[in-house]
Amino acid sequence: MVWPETPVERLQGFRPRFCPWPECSEHRRSAPGYRFHRHGAYATVRRPKIPRFRCLTCGRAFSRQSFATSYYLKRPELLVPVAAGLVAGSAHRQLARSLGCAPSTVTRQSARLGRHALLLQSLALETLSGRLCESIAADHFETFEFSQDLPFGVLTLVGRDSWFVFGIDPAPHARTGRRTPSQEARRLARPRRPSRAGYFGSFRRGLDLLLDLAPQGGSVHLVCDGKPEYLDALTSHAGHRRFAIEIHPNPVRGPKGSPKSPEAAARDRALHTVDRLHALLRHTRADHKRETIAFGRRLNAIMERLFVATAWRNFVKGRSERRPDPVTPAMRLGLAGRPWTWRQVLSRRLFPRRHRLPGLWSNLYRRNWTTPVLPTNHRHRLKHAA
Ligand SMILES: [Zn+2]
Repeated sequence: MVWPETPVERLQGFRPRFCPWPECSEHRRSAPGYRFHRHGAYATVRRPKIPRFRCLTCGRAFSRQSFATSYYLKRPELLVPVAAGLVAGSAHRQLARSLGCAPSTVTRQSARLGRHALLLQSLALETLSGRLCESIAADHFETFEFSQDLPFGVLTLVGRDSWFVFGIDPAPHARTGRRTPSQEARRLARPRRPSRAGYFGSFRRGLDLLLDLAPQGGSVHLVCDGKPEYLDALTSHAGHRRFAIEIHPNPVRGPKGSPKSPEAAARDRALHTVDRLHALLRHTRADHKRETIAFGRRLNAIMERLFVATAWRNFVKGRSERRPDPVTPAMRLGLAGRPWTWRQVLSRRLFPRRHRLPGLWSNLYRRNWTTPVLPTNHRHRLKHAA
């Protein structure tokens, strides 16, 4: 994967390789040969000379800053600390207090980081297309939006050798477990939300994503706990013959302190990497800790933050900090030569129309996955941005 180390803001001899305007026919160019003219420069308080250009195809002007992840930001210096804080267990208001900015600034930058991480993951998947050769562990990570009446699972597909997180996909589902009559009445009074086929739909979209990664005509080895919805999704999938599935049902455990049964030990060995990821998410994300007041209000925003965590897990964090093992999952797959810093993750802006977004990710990018129980749901309108 070609990914620069130096942030675009620091490049002296920057030359655009495509037009940043999504409507232009040169926006999707990947080959060399993009035609532009220099069009002066402007200065800001922070930077003395930012070059401007004019596209010779659409005639529109743009600047070097159009290619930076900090485009249009008033506080660009906050992007890196916000990203680092989000995966270090900080909630938005805690971050705002320690960084000296408004909580809404952290919320907006967190959404931007989520969109960037989603596109970075799409770029990584494009690079890995046809190259999947390891076994995948699949399971849903359980959380909720706004209230425990509105639970959803997030499908996580993790490489069993590389520990690379290949995909995440939400699955809204009905609340389970015991409820008092008043809790049940409150739950029934809530506006209905689209489920997008719940676990079944989410797993099916995960299967599509994995088939795109498998070599031409090759098969995918998949390990899961055998939820009935998983098996339904698999048997009804047109490419079901290309999956070799290994099932380890979740065994009954306990009482606390009793030794693991052989079935429980086999299940834990098989799903070790995905269990580790879920434990890491609970430990490092403020919105997924148990009994927290920092829980997420909207599924879409929670998914954005999970994409930030995915980028961190794949590109920044070594496999083990205890050992120490600085090799990141992306390095094991040949996507990166060394661990990335957040500055490197954010060194280039990515444009949604230049990448193929799997499943429902373009809905998440546009913030089209709304939470009906909330009065307002701001979508990501592409007024100035892509
Ligand atoms: Zn153009």
